[in-house]
Amino acid sequence: MNAEAMGTQATAIRHEASLSKIEQLRLNGQLPSPKGVALAIMELCRREDASIEAVTRVVQTDPALAARLLRLANAAALRAARPVAAVPDAVMRLGMAAVRQVAMGFSMVDQHRHGQCEGFDYDRFWSHSLLMAVAMQALAARSRAGSPEEMFTCGLMARIGCLALATVYPAEYAELLRQSPSERDLAALERQHLRADHHEFTAAILEDCGVPHALIEPVIHHEAPDASGFTEGSRPHRLAHLFHHGKRIADMGLAPESERSGLISELMLLGGKLGLDANEQGSLIDGIVAEWRQWSELLKVPAGALPSFAAMAAAPAPKNAELQALHPSMRVLLVEDEPASRMLMEKLLSDIVGPNVHSATNGSEALALALEIMPQIVVTDWLMPVMDGVEFCKALRATDWGQSMYVIMLTGVDNEDEVTRAFEAGVDDYVTKPLKVRSLRARMRAALHYVQLLDAWESDRAKLKQFTAELAISNRKLEHYAMTDLLTGLPNRRAGMDVLGQAWSGAGRSGHGLAVMMIDIDRFKGINDTHGHAVGDKVLTRVGKLIRASARREDHVSRIGGEEFLVICHNADLRSTVHAAERLRQKVRSEVIEADGVRLQASISIGVASKEDGMANADALMAAADRALYAAKQNGRDRTCLNAGGKLMLNRP
Ligand code: GH3
Ligand code: MG
Ligand code: MG
Ligand code: MG
Repeated sequence: MNAEAMGTQATAIRHEASLSKIEQLRLNGQLPSPKGVALAIMELCRREDASIEAVTRVVQTDPALAARLLRLANAAALRAARPVAAVPDAVMRLGMAAVRQVAMGFSMVDQHRHGQCEGFDYDRFWSHSLLMAVAMQALAARSRAGSPEEMFTCGLMARIGCLALATVYPAEYAELLRQSPSERDLAALERQHLRADHHEFTAAILEDCGVPHALIEPVIHHEAPDASGFTEGSRPHRLAHLFHHGKRIADMGLAPESERSGLISELMLLGGKLGLDANEQGSLIDGIVAEWRQWSELLKVPAGALPSFAAMAAAPAPKNAELQALHPSMRVLLVEDEPASRMLMEKLLSDIVGPNVHSATNGSEALALALEIMPQIVVTDWLMPVMDGVEFCKALRATDWGQSMYVIMLTGVDNEDEVTRAFEAGVDDYVTKPLKVRSLRARMRAALHYVQLLDAWESDRAKLKQFTAELAISNRKLEHYAMTDLLTGLPNRRAGMDVLGQAWSGAGRSGHGLAVMMIDIDRFKGINDTHGHAVGDKVLTRVGKLIRASARREDHVSRIGGEEFLVICHNADLRSTVHAAERLRQKVRSEVIEADGVRLQASISIGVASKEDGMANADALMAAADRALYAAKQNGRDRTCLNAGGKLMLNRP
């Protein structure tokens, strides 16, 4: 079995194990599941002949549920429809499937408002879940990503697995929570201690509630949608991000005031992806919060009061100081032709980002200044002499360096066509004139957040680049080591054979000659035996150096065995190679080698052969040289022998 198949099997086994664990809990009735009217509805919906009327009758036996369904049917106020006042109409509008899911969700809230797991904040859990439910309903209506009621249920139960773990393992989960894991580590810790994580439990419970799989998968990846592995742009990918958006809205709603501003800027970016401008986002979030508070009364779940989105976005001065501290090198370029307006803007901007606000009075001046100071954020007026804001923005975007700058356009017109023109020219956002300080602050906040993300991304990229460069260097080092003989520092056998292979093909193509010398030190074993291996090593190294030094620069010298060397002579014929071999042999035998206080002389035998017509390949050339070398040894050593067309001839010096 290959590694991949084994991995798949392991996953399957783990999946089976955890499923059966959840299955067991389900059978023992330990898994949170609907009770009472919700259970009756669920059972009714299972029957093939279930009718809307029958479901309605059951719903009407539970006034609390009836009120909640009415609220839900009317809640999607964003959809233009007349309000419903009667339960049958509500059930009709929502549809049986939605009624069933929603009833299950509400049943969970009713049953698990409190629990035994110390350290699990039940109130906070439901408050957050409810806000996410309402947010999902609104986001679904905005983005048409799915049925708002289904999305409501998914939002309400997106983290129900945590509640389930707290219910099933109250003591163990309390202990686990005491370690106060960050949200990112929670699942890993759960798997480590409970051998199942909240995502698996969430999936099982959503399945029980009749939520389709197409929604369950995105829900269980909503905490880290980018790690989901969904194909970018696919429906599950978009849904997982939408659930993430809903979750961040809920996070913001429950966050302490000091953490809200960071979340607000993130929401601005997320909303921007849905095509919402700052005002639309404000009304969306404010609507969600109001809705949440109404729901909280109905479900008896706490919901704190929040200031309006606009008020939260226009954060007070100290927050700006915090941001400035985060961005000591934040540079802003302001482009505005009217002096009074320019002075006001300069003041406002430096309150937000600190002292590095530079200004220009028209587009072409701004372009030159932008190149000089490289601002991260550009705030530009539209109507200006010489070069207007749109032309300036286009020019900026046409450069390499101007593409990642965040451009905010000041505009007197709030007309759709004009705004579209500005966006087409490449602006990121716009603020209408006359300027409202609050909306400028809110926009700058989103811009700062963008710059922060860009910085983080660039530093990641820089690290990656450095890493790649280091890897390339160490790969080259590895390659060098793999191809080098450590004792002599010469290329090793593998390198020699590679070069010979290339030289063989090259010679075939060009028709130039190719010859080799195969060299073996004579009676080397005797040197080892007499003087020791260490001396032997020095002799080997010295002889290697002599060969390298006496060979032509373009010849390739390698150590191909214990005391054997190969010299590959490019563009050489047999005759010239024999001459060169002879010179080399004499040089070695005349050299006095000093090693560890011993002075000795060594000699070598050399076999020479050249590429000939009819020779099959490089191996044949090596074999021919080897036969010549053997003949040199047979004929007394310290000799050069050549192999010409299979005829062995000793070179008589
Ligand atoms: P001949 O003239 O027939 O080539 O005799 P020889 O002794 O050189 O040949 P043989 O093949 O019998 O012995 C080669 C010796 O080279 C045996 C081996 O111990 C020694 N040798 C091989 N590699 C190394 C090395 O890296 N260092 C040392 N010191 N000796 C080595
Ligand atoms: Mg030998
Ligand atoms: Mg030898
Ligand atoms: Mg040998």
